[in-house]
Amino acid sequence: MVKQALEFPNISKKRLQDEVIPELLQWSLSNGLTMYPPTFKLEETMTVPMTLFPTYLPKDSFNEAIKVQKIYNEIYAKIAQNKDQWLSTQSDILAAHDPEFIGKLWKIYHDALNIGVSQKNSLGIFRSDYLIDRENDQIKQVEFNTISVSFGGLSTKVCELHRFLNDTGRYKPDLTSFYSQEIPISSSSELLAKALSRGVEKYGPTASPTIVAFIVQSGERNVFDQKILEYNLFKNYGIKSVRLTLHEIHEKTHMDPDSKRLYLASTQQEISLVYFRAGYSPNDFTTQQDWSNRLTLEVSYAIKAPNLLTQLSGTKKIQQLLTDPETLHKFIPDKSWMNTILSTFVKIYPLDDSPLGQYAKKLAMECPERYVLKPQREGGGNNIYKHDIPLFLQQLAQQEWGGYVLMELINPQPTTSNIVIHGDKQFKEPILSELGIFGYILFDNNEIFENEYAGWMLRSKFASSDEGGVAAGFGCMDSIVLY
Ligand code: ADP
Ligand code: MG
Repeated sequence: MVKQALEFPNISKKRLQDEVIPELLQWSLSNGLTMYPPTFKLEETMTVPMTLFPTYLPKDSFNEAIKVQKIYNEIYAKIAQNKDQWLSTQSDILAAHDPEFIGKLWKIYHDALNIGVSQKNSLGIFRSDYLIDRENDQIKQVEFNTISVSFGGLSTKVCELHRFLNDTGRYKPDLTSFYSQEIPISSSSELLAKALSRGVEKYGPTASPTIVAFIVQSGERNVFDQKILEYNLFKNYGIKSVRLTLHEIHEKTHMDPDSKRLYLASTQQEISLVYFRAGYSPNDFTTQQDWSNRLTLEVSYAIKAPNLLTQLSGTKKIQQLLTDPETLHKFIPDKSWMNTILSTFVKIYPLDDSPLGQYAKKLAMECPERYVLKPQREGGGNNIYKHDIPLFLQQLAQQEWGGYVLMELINPQPTTSNIVIHGDKQFKEPILSELGIFGYILFDNNEIFENEYAGWMLRSKFASSDEGGVAAGFGCMDSIVLY
């Protein structure tokens, strides 16, 4: 099918204002497709930025992204197993280039080793993000996330909303459905709760039921996305949870000095799983106490989702190293899978003193418009794009260059006919969509116990903006129709 022939509903301005937008907003408020506004009281909420219609995605690209998820899970679990100390070697190098954050995480890891790490099992809850190349519909990986992957809860909701609007005929004046095929619903809100339950189960039998600690940011606005997982965890598995910030671990939990078992201080409930929705950014650590709290969690007997090695396996540096076939081969012996994974990469270069690094420095200066420069940070708003790269690099101390990677820009096909809804405002301008596939994997130093795909999310941004994070304010939630 020719891409331009893909049709979107054509709704009159009047019907949009009088019927469709009110329906969309009220469905969202009724069903929790919401987040907190920039400054808020506990009882105040707003609808998440979202598209009015699902966005078309090529079926083959979508299926390909799902197909490779378990392979990606396995690659990253194997990296985190740190056999032959490969991750340690890379982290040593990276810590020297980025002492501010990776260096500190790496130090905490060593402190934990010195104290002794009692829990051998680890839970990886991952999301692999892709843009689809407009030339050949090939999925190209933007990044692989190993900590605090978000929007698994809200993704299911936005699919349900779009399906509801379609099935109740809101997209057409005669109230029949516009899309003939069913709008798919991401199972991420159920499957990520399942992932957490598997972590709890792996912890093993205890005298009384254990709980999950969600480690969250203070002032978090994307609370309801997390709450959906919390409620599904209780509804489907009977497992309770508690929300704690990194700042209060020393006050609200205590660790048995011998068994290293972790307890919620107020109730004495045992914490079997520590699920991080914070701790991925240096801003999450405001005092030395926060670092010490992170250390406590790492040495505790609770299973971590993720532990420090799993978190460190998800840096942009590791993604860059995996684009080298010889490196990738260490983690994925199967030749045909290796070629499939390689086809999902664009070129990513180091900015170190190696010959490839020297070459990349030239590229960054001579044709920056083809690249994005990325530091070892998560959460949006950290990258440097195109013509901003040369000056940025010139002002950066040489020692820090190695903490960045230079990545070729992916060129997806813009969608021109969707409408972005921000509260009572609507925007009709070209958008680009980024597909995220969730997965989870339960493993220890030697073995992988369970490896599963866990749903998907689509997030769109204005084509005029470089960044795309929804929580960071750059993007909006979307859903899909396949063609
Ligand atoms: P973060 O960890 O901050 O989410 P990402 O690597 O995901 O960092 O980059 C943020 C955003 O920048 C992405 O969501 C995407 O919109 C854009 N971006 C990143 N890398 C590329 C790329 N190679 N080509 C095109 N856009 C990119
Ligand atoms: Mg990202």
